[in-house]
Amino acid sequence: MQSVALDIKNLRKFTAALLKLGTVRGPVHSPAGVVLADITTQSDLALEYENFKLPPKREFFPQCEEITRFDASGVREVPVSGAADVIFGVRPCDALALSHLDRVFTDDKYTDPYYSKRRGAALLISLACNKSEAACFCTSTGGSPSSKQGADIIGFNLGTVLLLEPVTARGQAFVKKNKSLFRDPSAKELQKREKQEADVAGQIPGVAVQQAPAALSGKSDPAFWESIAETCLSCGACTFLCPTCHCFDFNDRTKRDAGSRLRVHDACMFASFVREASGHNPRGKKGERMRQRVMHKFSYAPENFNTVFCVGCGRCVTACPSNIDIRETLSKVTA
Ligand code: SF4
Ligand code: SF4
Repeated sequence: MQSVALDIKNLRKFTAALLKLGTVRGPVHSPAGVVLADITTQSDLALEYENFKLPPKREFFPQCEEITRFDASGVREVPVSGAADVIFGVRPCDALALSHLDRVFTDDKYTDPYYSKRRGAALLISLACNKSEAACFCTSTGGSPSSKQGADIIGFNLGTVLLLEPVTARGQAFVKKNKSLFRDPSAKELQKREKQEADVAGQIPGVAVQQAPAALSGKSDPAFWESIAETCLSCGACTFLCPTCHCFDFNDRTKRDAGSRLRVHDACMFASFVREASGHNPRGKKGERMRQRVMHKFSYAPENFNTVFCVGCGRCVTACPSNIDIRETLSKVTA
């Protein structure tokens, strides 16, 4: 679909048009860095930022949510809350990750009502990256710093102009409805966007991702996986911060004869993840858990969804307290 140009001087009006849709979340400066938070005016919005530390999947699949309440009179569903109407500024790797999660949570047979209600509520406007970070490898995972998959509109920040390209009919409808805010981009602006896209993609080193699914079938030696996981603390940071990890558990919180059922994120890197009531743990060793995580992303996901479940965001690389690097693991797997 054709791009439109928004002069930055019109950002206030653009933000007002977004706010007319309801709750808007976007990149906001905070003492903890740039976070995805509620926007009430244009001055809240950050346009220059590195990616969010926490993955935007949490907007649709919160770390902890109350599903039902129960007491002696019965069980009641808790209505879905906290849905945003617009989410602005998600980076392309995270938008791609959401398109993977869409397939998990809303397939032909089963639809997760909590995820799908929030996802369906939000107009998703992604923002292409103007520079890459040291741990990025999106170009090896089927994405790019300007990948459009998962977004309704993708934006390109050219300094004084934001180029906006509708990706879906919903994005197109928003642009059409607010056409007075936009103008046609000049040939020079389109060239600048193209150069920016190529320059950023060119900065990102390649990682052996596409070779991984075939190579993994021959990597079942426990000693290999124990060597990869030798320094792992089983902290779960890599899974909690991953924009595609989606395992969850249910916990009941009770007080006297009433309580709530909570859905909470879980992590395959936790020692307790598959521990059975008997105490037996089918993946009691760190290497077994590491193998499971890598197999899930780079072997089982391609089998089931025809794509790896890693978008190369690099969060697990930067967050791991033991400096375990998925790029190095893939290079050892495919060596
Ligand atoms: S495995 Fe690591 S690099 Fe890949 S999507 Fe998850 S957090 Fe990002
Ligand atoms: S972040 Fe690092 S130390 Fe923590 S579970 Fe993942 S690999 Fe292990």
